[in-house]
Amino acid sequence: MSDHYVKVKVQLEQMKSFGKEDAEKEKEEDEEEQTSMSSPPPALVSPDTPSINTADRDASITCKHRGGKSRGGKNSCGKHSITDLALHGSGKKSNRLGGHERTLHIRGTGKILQGKSENNGNYVTIHPSKNIQETCSKDVFKHARKRRPVTVDTAKAKTSLEALKLSIKQLKWKEFPLGRRAPCDIYWHGVSFHDNENIVSGQVNKFPGMIEMLRKINMSRAVRTMQELFPDEYDFYPRSWILPEEYQQFATQIRMVKENDATVNPTFIVKPDSGSQGDGIYLIRDPSDLKLMGGSQAKQSVVQEYIHKPLLIDKLKFDIRLYVLLKSMEPLEIYIAKEGLTRFCTEPYQEPSQKNLSHVFMHLTNYSLNVHSCNFVHSDSQSTGSKRTLSSVLYRLAAKGVDIKKVWSDIIALVIKTIIAVVPELRVYYQADIPPGKPGPTCFQILGFDILLMKNLKPVLLEVNSNPSMRIEHEQEVAPGVFEYVPSPVDEEVKVGVIRDTLRLMDPFSRKSSISQPKAGGFEHREEIPMEAETQEKSPDDGALPSLCLKQVYPKYTKQFNHLRVVERIAALFIRFLGVKGNMRLGPTAFRTFIRTCKLSNSNFTMASVDILYIDITRRWSGAMPDSREAGMGLQAFVEAFFHLAARRFKVLTMREQVVSLVELCEAQLEAPPSVEDRRSVSCSRALPTNQQDSDAGPRQPAARLSRSHAKGGQPGLPAASKTQASHAQGQRRELVFRLSNTSPQEQGN
Ligand code: ADP
Repeated sequence: MSDHYVKVKVQLEQMKSFGKEDAEKEKEEDEEEQTSMSSPPPALVSPDTPSINTADRDASITCKHRGGKSRGGKNSCGKHSITDLALHGSGKKSNRLGGHERTLHIRGTGKILQGKSENNGNYVTIHPSKNIQETCSKDVFKHARKRRPVTVDTAKAKTSLEALKLSIKQLKWKEFPLGRRAPCDIYWHGVSFHDNENIVSGQVNKFPGMIEMLRKINMSRAVRTMQELFPDEYDFYPRSWILPEEYQQFATQIRMVKENDATVNPTFIVKPDSGSQGDGIYLIRDPSDLKLMGGSQAKQSVVQEYIHKPLLIDKLKFDIRLYVLLKSMEPLEIYIAKEGLTRFCTEPYQEPSQKNLSHVFMHLTNYSLNVHSCNFVHSDSQSTGSKRTLSSVLYRLAAKGVDIKKVWSDIIALVIKTIIAVVPELRVYYQADIPPGKPGPTCFQILGFDILLMKNLKPVLLEVNSNPSMRIEHEQEVAPGVFEYVPSPVDEEVKVGVIRDTLRLMDPFSRKSSISQPKAGGFEHREEIPMEAETQEKSPDDGALPSLCLKQVYPKYTKQFNHLRVVERIAALFIRFLGVKGNMRLGPTAFRTFIRTCKLSNSNFTMASVDILYIDITRRWSGAMPDSREAGMGLQAFVEAFFHLAARRFKVLTMREQVVSLVELCEAQLEAPPSVEDRRSVSCSRALPTNQQDSDAGPRQPAARLSRSHAKGGQPGLPAASKTQASHAQGQRRELVFRLSNTSPQEQGN
């Protein structure tokens, strides 16, 4: 053992004892509460913990696969993590203490290039100079004294508790398993935002409305709206019909397809609206096979085109479970986990035929179903068995010559576009639960994307889970008919990394700014998104943890996707006119106010026609959503009305241009100083977008708030950040209004 090594050890002991004092102080502060201190205070250099490597290496390089029983305090990583799938650069990176390392690279062919760390074995060489050592240790002590551990309330964590506990332990944060009287920094809910109603500060791991928004019908509607505006961009979602309301359309369209070509015999998959884990799902080949009634009630469900040519591995159909972190909605920040899971069917795949339609183990990839098949293989290896890591599958595809860089890039695009589709309505839920000005927590959420790869490698979105399973055990039949949960190494490998790194990104004391700037020059539309291993800067607080397994994709790739955020701007208008706090629907007066303020009525489109439009659309939508208790016009109905107004006003343009033009027109009108007439109408209405009314029944989205968010993260089309920018943008919009109002008498006349 070298002298230097002994010195490091002495320092470590000092730090530990110092840390203990700190921890004891903390304990005293919280003595009235039942808490559990997850681990001793941080030791930045620890020769005693060989699994934690101060050399800032990629976890994928330093970690070895471990069995299911070893837990806690270890790096969570995959053998072939996507981080390794570097396609550019040398992979040489500098750690914060000056050492260098080389990452593994798998080029498109699956070839592995191995480099050599210049660090001293597993441990960082601390500079031998006495002065530097002293300064260093003083800094460490100062740091340890300054920072209290982040507190996490895990009382409502439910089935994610195991993985969460391990994550908190790795981070050396403080867990409150029974809740805490004083506020915590982070609240971890197992199901929904509303698991605990009394949170007024900190951060909650669920957004209000996410469950509702991601139900199959709502999700299909949101994607369909985007398909209307951007058909080519949203072709990753199978064609879907909502039942029972669209039964006739579905039946007619299928009949026509079959009449046109008798050799075509498509298959459809029927999914109950609120079902999960494959419950109630069945395949059909004819609309007459639909089971439309559930008891005495019409069954709410989605019927969807069945993807009959999936990519197979070992002759089996499989799907991908990808974990995505919605870190913030305003500004929009999205991260994707570089590692995910793949779930395999347990019966060899055959294209659907009348004979095999009911073979669930052949057609449905759900783990919860296949685990009951006698062919299900539980495996300790990440690259075999019925549940594998995504990286092991990509690695295998790369070895076969598949362009996995393109696959990954397409998957990232699918994720960003899907989130852009659901965010508008989420914003409505959010403002109802946490209105501006009311104390409340901020939110983040881990989502589970289920993605199928087609034979031609195109990714298809199956669904998004608001509450993806974070269990790190799996069910096993220990005796005939007796099932028990046993540790699952593959789940632990992936899920602990996702939870731990989500917490790291949400760390309230983190000094680094997590918003990376959009890529210089941006990526042009349709260009591929690179999947290189990024040299993610680690905060000093991250200590010995592996580099993040979550990769920021938005706003990083803003330029490529920002033009899609049109419905969000319609939602911002909608929210502005909502009025009463907690409301999610627009009343007739508020709708009139919107029309009047944005100057959308004229002699050809009178206020009487506005009322008829309101009644017509609202009535239709309340029929489509029979269980909704609130009366009035919801966002989806408002979007329909908006599209209608846009088509009336800008007849000669394409649909997308019509909608964008109307959004710009409305935004410009709302920015313009109110005329005398407007002021008169303001005083008559409860729901006008003026700051005077904000405290009570006024606008939900004051202009100042919008400007701020735009400055932070690039809300598309919302008022610009600085005054100069604002007046410039306003000038441009005014010009646009003028140009549009003069383009053709037809547009003017409506
Ligand atoms: P659930 O929430 O019940 O799991 P999913 O939409 O995820 O519902 O569907 C269950 C399974 O059915 C998927 O994991 C997938 O294997 C299969 N599946 C779903 N939709 C399609 C589709 N359009 N084409 C082919 N297979 C599908």
